[in-house]
Amino acid sequence: MALMSRDDYIESLRGMNKRVFIMGQEVTNPVDHPLVRPSLNACAMTYELARQPEYAGLMLATSNLTGQTVNRFTHLHQSTADLVAKVKMQRLLGQMTGCCFQRCVGLDALNALDSVTYDMDQALGTRYHATFRHYLRQVQERDLVVDGAMTDAKGDRQLRPSQQADPDLFVHIVEKTSDGLVVRGAKLHQTGALNSHEIIVMPTQTLSEKERDYAVAFAVPADAPGIVMVYGRQPSDTRRLEDSQLDVGNPQFGGHEAVIILDDVFVPWERVFMAGEYAFSGLLVERFAGYHRQSYGGCKTGVGDVLIGAAQAVAQAQGTDKASHIKDKIVEMIHLNETMYACGIACSAEGQATASGTYLVNLLLANVCKLNVTRFPYEIARLAQDIAGGLLVTLPSEKDLAHPEVGPYLKKYLHSVDRYTTEERCRMLRLMENLTLGPGAAAYLTESMHGAGSPQAQRIMLARLADLEEKVRLARRLAGIEQ
Ligand code: SF4
Ligand code: FE
Repeated sequence: MALMSRDDYIESLRGMNKRVFIMGQEVTNPVDHPLVRPSLNACAMTYELARQPEYAGLMLATSNLTGQTVNRFTHLHQSTADLVAKVKMQRLLGQMTGCCFQRCVGLDALNALDSVTYDMDQALGTRYHATFRHYLRQVQERDLVVDGAMTDAKGDRQLRPSQQADPDLFVHIVEKTSDGLVVRGAKLHQTGALNSHEIIVMPTQTLSEKERDYAVAFAVPADAPGIVMVYGRQPSDTRRLEDSQLDVGNPQFGGHEAVIILDDVFVPWERVFMAGEYAFSGLLVERFAGYHRQSYGGCKTGVGDVLIGAAQAVAQAQGTDKASHIKDKIVEMIHLNETMYACGIACSAEGQATASGTYLVNLLLANVCKLNVTRFPYEIARLAQDIAGGLLVTLPSEKDLAHPEVGPYLKKYLHSVDRYTTEERCRMLRLMENLTLGPGAAAYLTESMHGAGSPQAQRIMLARLADLEEKVRLARRLAGIEQ
């Protein structure tokens, strides 16, 4: 068993040589950077919980490749029970961190690549599946964080990849040699890039014959020569530089996204999983997206649990928790949150084995899950803000609360229910602010909208997968038109 501890993981990142830019400066040691550290703490929880016996059932799995115990984040799903455990693990981690813990994208990329490389080899006589499984064995044995990079820059959305004025707006092969590929382009919105050991790059859409060079999937170490990462800003992010725990709301944890630039990166053949097989690009996108749409039924409901808890705690601290309309709003939040979870569980329980043996979620239900996730967190956040009242956005800073002159006034005038201190009330409001307006909202709201595909992408899948003709037949039979 080669499971890393939290500290092993952090040290392993320290040993890497990534090129990282944060707010206009090249940073040689992102591990200890105050803007990055909370996201590292969140990702590190995937290691920490895996070492705790009470979470072993969710966090660990037996590898079908080696028979060894591995972290579930590197495991190929071997049953519907594995798919269900994944969602439960994600909810647990969302509850523990209140943010995006980043490691699921790679898990979803690994599972999608496993079945797609198998299908591709069967159809085309290629040898990608064995290459992929050899790579995955190393990921499992070394217990690595893998980033799944799909979203290209895309340029002018009216134009196909091959029609763009700048061919680099979609990642593509610029050279093929006997040793491997050279690739160029960029991937946007890359969750947890700075905290990853490896990056798996995949195409972003279905491609045509003319776009062979864009049909490329591979894995590279996150510090491979030619890779440059640029850290993405989040609302109120510089509060983390202010030396105030209270004002940050969720001081220990947070997510991050980055732009990953691939400037003529060399990829040896033993790390290439698709190179020109354009007919399989759509399948890879569909399966990866299906897994990641399932993921949101876990992680976002875990964060939702924290937000519902914060709303209830604020109501208690302000003396409104007994009001019938507040109770009703809390119930509505629970209903919405559990509906997303139910979809995550349902698409897992209805999953099926692919030809490679790896289990895939029910794609129709996974898309229903994600479509709900594009809406419900916004409504949950709206209700939380309704319950909180205006102090959510007018609260003075921690430094004012501690100030010798105005601090006592604030403690006096912000005091509410006796059982709770003013500081407790303020901390809860700040946590809610983080989740609904601050850096946490980047993941809980906007990422819920666009991560794993924007709502229109799910609607297209629903239209395709729902078998409308069969529904028409059912109706015609009951109406006496058809036997
Ligand atoms: Fe995992 Fe959720 Fe973050 Fe995606 S958004 S990486 S599913 S925690
Ligand atoms: Fe995401």
